Amino acid sequence: MRILVVEDEHKTADYLCRGLGESGYRVEVALNGYDAQHLITESEFDLIILDVMLPGLDGWQLLQLIRGRSQVPVLFLTAMDAVEYRVKGLELGADDYLVKPFSFVELLARVRTLLRRSPPREREHFRAADLEMDVLRRRVTRQGERIALTNKEFSLLELFLDREGEVLSRTYIASRVWQMNFDSDTNVVEVAVRRLRAKVDDPYSRKLIHTERGMGYVLEDRV
Ligand code: CA
Repeated sequence: MRILVVEDEHKTADYLCRGLGESGYRVEVALNGYDAQHLITESEFDLIILDVMLPGLDGWQLLQLIRGRSQVPVLFLTAMDAVEYRVKGLELGADDYLVKPFSFVELLARVRTLLRRSPPREREHFRAADLEMDVLRRRVTRQGERIALTNKEFSLLELFLDREGEVLSRTYIASRVWQMNFDSDTNVVEVAVRRLRAKVDDPYSRKLIHTERGMGYVLEDRV
């Protein structure tokens, strides 16, 4: 579980970093709004703890940036106990807030609740035999060699990897990868699978994508 702490007071940042680290979380710290902006746009976090008053972008601006991108839980940390600030934070999409000074025990309890509430993130990495997919970097390799795929081929392979070992029908694949229902023309799927195999399986002795006659396709390491 990765947590981003955005806090410009070094003492508080250190304290949070140490406490959360000892509780088993991976913590990154941003000491100002610009560093936070960079981390938020470049990385994925499971939770963000956000101070309001910050140099650079403030907590409100960062919250809007975050909500424009994801539903990651955000815990507002604020010295401003005024009701209107709490309301503003919650209206902008914060999930909870804590008024400074706070006890670490209380913070940890809030963090745990928020992390339980959040849906699991989509997988970022897949591996089947010697095939690897890095979803965020759009990178696929076999035996360490890079394989160039089109967007649709990538989505198709991602679906196979996500459902490894399950037979997927052509109709199901069409609905997931093309967001369309090809009731009559599942030929599109056959062509796409053939192209994908040509890149991912044909050059290698160990085959991963298999045809189940009359049923569909399955990605499985059968060795
Ligand atoms: Ca501050």
